Amino acid sequence: MTINVLTLFPDMFDSVKASSIWARAIDSDNITINTIDIRDFATDKHNRADDSPFGGGAGMVLKPEPVSACFDDVTASCPQPYINVYMSPCGKTLSHDISVNLSKFACINILCGHYEGVDQRAIDKHIDLEISIGDYVLTGGELAAMVVIDACMRHIDGVLGNETSTDNESFSDALLEHPQYTRPASYNDVDVPDVLLSGHHANVQAYSRQMSILMTARRRPGLLSKTVLGKSDIEYITRK
Ligand code: SAM
Repeated sequence: MTINVLTLFPDMFDSVKASSIWARAIDSDNITINTIDIRDFATDKHNRADDSPFGGGAGMVLKPEPVSACFDDVTASCPQPYINVYMSPCGKTLSHDISVNLSKFACINILCGHYEGVDQRAIDKHIDLEISIGDYVLTGGELAAMVVIDACMRHIDGVLGNETSTDNESFSDALLEHPQYTRPASYNDVDVPDVLLSGHHANVQAYSRQMSILMTARRRPGLLSKTVLGKSDIEYITRK
């Protein structure tokens, strides 16, 4: 997959691209992340990509011409199918389903706003989907874009190394993940549940499923209606 990030601050991505799973995914060619400076597409003699808003008000707005020229340039040669995304507090809230759907595109072009935002005409002309990462306002879209890229690339084959890694994670079947433990088996007088030390695969699976259901029922009961509960699941919940 190719991800093109249209931003005024391309350097913000450098350390994230060089770290952990991002670095491995880039090195192994599972993902290509290009950061494109919108300022390079400014057309006025001062190289300005933003201007003050019509109607008054504080802050600056990204001008339509450089944003539009940047999209035209990127989409002329990016892999198909692609989707143009704008990070915006007014967008659809990012979810597991959105990140899985995005991972199916060959290319995502992500526009990061800054200051007051982006001229609406550029958004209307180019954007297929606006995504918010929550009901709060960030300084710019760069951190939000990193969240979207991170959540999405986990679903691309080969990125996590282990193909089954996302299978039992929170939200994969609308349930929250069960608690995880590692060594030591006893810590601060609290023991790891016996079943996890038993080596009995079927019992471990049944226990993990029950814990997932319990966690979900206690913390996010609304999610339970989105999953298919078996007879043993229902018996377990009603016992609790
Ligand atoms: N004036 C805008 C408003 O009130 O909706 C906020 C602009 S914000 C300071 C600057 C940029 O940060 C936005 O254009 C957007 O790209 C990004 N941004 C801010 N909050 C965000 C959020 N919750 N999710 C995604 N992007 C966000």
